[in-house]
Amino acid sequence: MFLGHFGVALAVKRLEPKISLGSLFMAVQLADLLWGCFVLLGWEHARIIPGYTVVTPLQFYDYPLSHSLLAAVGWALVAAAMYYSWPTRDTSRHWQAAALVGLAVLSHYLLDVLVHAPDLPISGNDSGKLGFGLWNNLGATLALELLVFGAGLAIYVAFRSHRHPVRPIRLALLVVVLLVSYFANLRGPLPPSMTVVAASSIGFFVLVAILAGWADQRATPDELAAAGLDSRK
Ligand SMILES: [Zn+2]
Repeated sequence: MFLGHFGVALAVKRLEPKISLGSLFMAVQLADLLWGCFVLLGWEHARIIPGYTVVTPLQFYDYPLSHSLLAAVGWALVAAAMYYSWPTRDTSRHWQAAALVGLAVLSHYLLDVLVHAPDLPISGNDSGKLGFGLWNNLGATLALELLVFGAGLAIYVAFRSHRHPVRPIRLALLVVVLLVSYFANLRGPLPPSMTVVAASSIGFFVLVAILAGWADQRATPDELAAAGLDSRK
C-alpha cells in the first residue's frame, strides 16, 4: 500500500494535534523506510519479476525484520518509546500521543496485509504468511488506496482549528506530490535494480515527511493574534 498509509497519518494528526504531521508520515511508513535500509544492507531481499502482480513487479520473499507482525509490534513500541522520551516542553496527553504514534507504525502492517500477495510473515520466514492479494486487481487496489487516503484527507481538513490550521496551498502541493508519485510509479517502467528501488524509496519517504511537516506548520503568533488567541497557550 502507498497512499492509504498517508491517509492514516492525516487522520491521526487530528486525533492528537500536537504530533507533527512529518513525524506521523515517518511513523506510518517506518516499515518501508526500514525495509529500504535493510535491503541496501543486504539483511532483507526482494526481486523484480515483471508481471508478478498487476500493481507491483516486486516479489518480497525475505523481509521479516521490517514486515512481520512481530516486527511491526516491536517497531511500534520502539517508535512510541522514542516519541515519549523525545525532549519537549508540551507533555500534555503524552502517553496517549506516544500510543497513537505506535498505532500509526502498526497500521502499516495491517494495511499492507490487504494488498500484498501472501508474503507478510507473522514472525520469521518459516512462519505463516498473510496477504489478501488485492495487488492482483488494479481497480480494487486504486479504490482502496483512494478511499483510505481520501478519508484521512477529509478528516484532516474537517477537524482543523485556529492553532492547527489547514494551509491550502502547501496541503495541495503535498497531495499532488503524493498522487503524481503514486500514478507515475504505477505506470512507470520496470525499476533497474533493487538498489535503486530501496534507495529511491528511502529518499522519497524522507522528503515527503519533510514536506508534510512544512504543510502542517502550526499557527504562528501573528496568526493566533489575528484570531484573538493567546500564543503562549
Ligand atoms: Zn510496506
